[in-house]
Order: sequence, then structure tokens, then C-alpha cells
Amino acid sequence: MSAVDLRVTGKRCTYWLAAEGRHCGSQVGVRAFIQGPRCPLHDPNVTTGGQP
Ligand SMILES: [Zn+2]
Repeated sequence: MSAVDLRVTGKRCTYWLAAEGRHCGSQVGVRAFIQGPRCPLHDPNVTTGGQP
């Protein structure tokens, strides 16, 4: 069972959405990674660091 923590953290996901020309900006469940704060959808382990 993998529970995802979906609390609003006050940090913003900095994942760059190239298709939309903006950062994700989600504040839900954001955690700090080497690459910066990321929401669960953009966890570097999920995106495999696929920044453009
Ligand atoms: Zn995100």
C-alpha cells in the first residue's frame, strides 16, 4: 500500500510544463528533491528527470 501525502505544503512544484509554458505550481503533497520542490505527479523518480 503506497499512501501519497496530499497535504498543501506551502511549497510549489517547480516542474516545467513545456507544453503549457509554465511551471506546475501545485502546492499539494509537494516534497523537496535535489531538482527542487515537486508534487507527487512530478516526483523525479516518476518523471526520471525528463526536464527539457
Ligand atoms: Zn507538479
